[in-house]
Amino acid sequence: YNIPILIKPHQAVFVNRSVTLENIQCFGFDMDYTMAMYKSPDYESMGFELIRDRMVSVGYPHELLRYTYDPSFPTRGLVIDTKFGNLLKVDSNGNVLVCSHGFHILKGEDVHKYYPNKFIQRDDTDRFYILNTLYNLSETYFYSCLVDFFTRCTRYTNLLKGFQHGDLFMSYRSMFQDARDTVDFIHDSGILKDRTIKNLDRYVIKEPNLPVLLTRIKVVAKVFLATNSDYSYTEAIMKYLLENKSGSPKKPWRSFFDLIVVDTKKPLFFAEGTVLRQVDTNTGKLRIGTYTGDLQHGTVYSGGSSDVICDLLDVRGKNILYVGDHIFGDILKSKKRQGWRTFLVVPELTKELQVWDKKKNLFEELKRLDIFLAELYNSTLSRCFCPRGLLLCVCVCVCVQVLTYRMDMSYGQMGSLLRSGARQTLFASQLMRYADLYSSTCINLLHYPFNYLFMAPPVLVSPPSSPPPTHAYACKRNIQMNL
Ligand code: IMP
Ligand code: MG
Repeated sequence: YNIPILIKPHQAVFVNRSVTLENIQCFGFDMDYTMAMYKSPDYESMGFELIRDRMVSVGYPHELLRYTYDPSFPTRGLVIDTKFGNLLKVDSNGNVLVCSHGFHILKGEDVHKYYPNKFIQRDDTDRFYILNTLYNLSETYFYSCLVDFFTRCTRYTNLLKGFQHGDLFMSYRSMFQDARDTVDFIHDSGILKDRTIKNLDRYVIKEPNLPVLLTRIKVVAKVFLATNSDYSYTEAIMKYLLENKSGSPKKPWRSFFDLIVVDTKKPLFFAEGTVLRQVDTNTGKLRIGTYTGDLQHGTVYSGGSSDVICDLLDVRGKNILYVGDHIFGDILKSKKRQGWRTFLVVPELTKELQVWDKKKNLFEELKRLDIFLAELYNSTLSRCFCPRGLLLCVCVCVCVQVLTYRMDMSYGQMGSLLRSGARQTLFASQLMRYADLYSSTCINLLHYPFNYLFMAPPVLVSPPSSPPPTHAYACKRNIQMNL
């Protein structure tokens, strides 16, 4: 990667497609998990407890109260199979990389029983639910607790698609839907937001450089805020982040932005959007009617669409750099529907880079074994059947699996956000496809001048060093898959 020499990897902004900052006339920011970083694992623990307690209060067994949040288990980007109750890590084509049932990680042939080709049709969004955001971590863990509890509790009989208790059948699908509805409830009712606001120091990271970043950007470009949160929550969070209590004179948080839009309803915001209204900042209430006037300084808007933003700020999509944390709602949609330049915030990168630094020898070893295996096939097995050669291949495949497992465990129980062994996750492939830039925090923009050219590394469609997909190579993959 093209990181300037003085910048450390955790401070770097990584590049998928070149961006000339000088051409960016407008910077847009998402709020939650982008400007407002929540403290992990306290925030996820609080979310988990709210979900758990509410599920018990609507009739789920009180034994669930024994579970507490374990941050080492969930990874973002996993997929819930609502039919069989499994949690899956998949690649961009839907090949299963890791599969767990409750907290039990399934081995090769058990995975095959559920998914005969170790493959899922991930377009089937009715069945497969992708846990895309950091908010989903507590939900991911709670769902695993549910499956774990019902699988082990002797009062319930385990069936393929759920559990039987007397004449009651409880499907994995209904359990998932109950948990999903509960998550929506804790967000929409304001319980989670109230608890956060009551204890901002405990749950929100007060990043001292955020006002510095926004002030510097405002000198060279326009700045807007577009969040799905409502006005009163946005005000509480942004005041905490931008208004320095001790500093004088106090600069109001709204003056850091040219435009503030709340209740954006992303991803709808990047398509047809919703009615644009004005927010009465004294009462927090919405003014009736659709706003049709020009941009007024200090006014807060609610709803609207990305097209409205371009009109109000008088900028074109390709001159906007939008910074967000949601790979689908912020990044994929703004890129695909509007052609905006995109910057994905991936807080997990800090740990990913640390582990990578410590364990990259394992990855090199994996790559060497892969090449060795391909050569072994090409030199012996593709010409004649050789039992010793085959045995050696099986041994090498076992080594590959052990190394993959060791690498994955360095990140957490479900492994890395970006890969499993040498194979990329769905999240990694979407990141490469839709995020022009990405970094662990938006604050890292401060390490670059605002006329910087973020240069993408040249990429060939097919790297010349990797072996061509020969028949022998395909055989090797089959052996790996069947182990
Ligand atoms: P943003 O990231 O600033 O656009 O805002 C995210 C908003 O979405 C916050 O107000 C969250 O409370 C809300 N949110 C996140 N996940 C869910 C969900 O699963 N259901 C309903 N609201 C959610
Ligand atoms: Mg967000």
